Amino acid sequence: NEPKLTEAQKASHIDKVIAVMSGKGGVGKSSVTGMLAVSLMRQGYKVGILDADITGPSIPKIFGVTGKAGVSNAGILASKSRGGVKVMSLNLMIETEDDPVILRGPLITQIVNQFYTDVIWGELDYLLIDLPPGTGDVPITVFQSLPIDGVVMVTSPQSLANMVVRKAIKMVRNYKPPIYGLIENMAYVQCPDCTKRIEVFGKPQGQEEADRTSIPYLGELPLDPALAELSDAGKIEDYQSPIFDQIAKRLADEIRK
Ligand code: ADP
Repeated sequence: NEPKLTEAQKASHIDKVIAVMSGKGGVGKSSVTGMLAVSLMRQGYKVGILDADITGPSIPKIFGVTGKAGVSNAGILASKSRGGVKVMSLNLMIETEDDPVILRGPLITQIVNQFYTDVIWGELDYLLIDLPPGTGDVPITVFQSLPIDGVVMVTSPQSLANMVVRKAIKMVRNYKPPIYGLIENMAYVQCPDCTKRIEVFGKPQGQEEADRTSIPYLGELPLDPALAELSDAGKIEDYQSPIFDQIAKRLADEIRK
């Protein structure tokens, strides 16, 4: 009993759908989603980002994608970043970018579903879903209703972030998609004048956490003012990070396993 495909789905072919998740907000999940998209694109893949963080959308902003999403007979057209990442976010559908989205859970989850079923994504190797933080309504709907191939977990070294990422990992395990790996963001600051590594939030625990929960460890990222600056300016695609490219390669390897 195959579910009936919408016109937009017939016009799209998505190879892998990957949810990016964090236990709590502020660990850099959206930034990591954006950078993963950029790095995967640099590796030659076609990538889209579905911004499922409906009430706190940041994907259009960090990619500098503005203007309203287009509509055709077959569905909503995903917008494109300068570099070619396809993006869909509720912020591309409202008049003013700083208007709040005041919707209750059921409507929000319906919108997220529609971003999958009614958006013309075209040909994609990877559709990354930037989930809202935590284990609430939207992650539950996404795991129940969308064909998620796997999950990337983002955390930061605060022990609170580690405790809550374990909750997120346990939640994903209820729904069975594999967890491709854990990325520890904001692990340290590289002193600009010497080689010293400053561990702002305490000792990174990503490797340990990944081992404890038996998921692959994809790597750690420094806190880098250049990333924050470029993201704020809508130019995340101009950020160059060999460390990040390594992480994205490891992820692509895990996905292909
Ligand atoms: P989340 O999606 O987890 O709430 P964001 O990706 O929105 O977090 O990041 C929160 C803030 O931290 C943003 O201003 C972002 O630019 C900044 N940020 C995230 N990761 C880094 C990093 N590695 N270096 C510097 N700033 C970062």
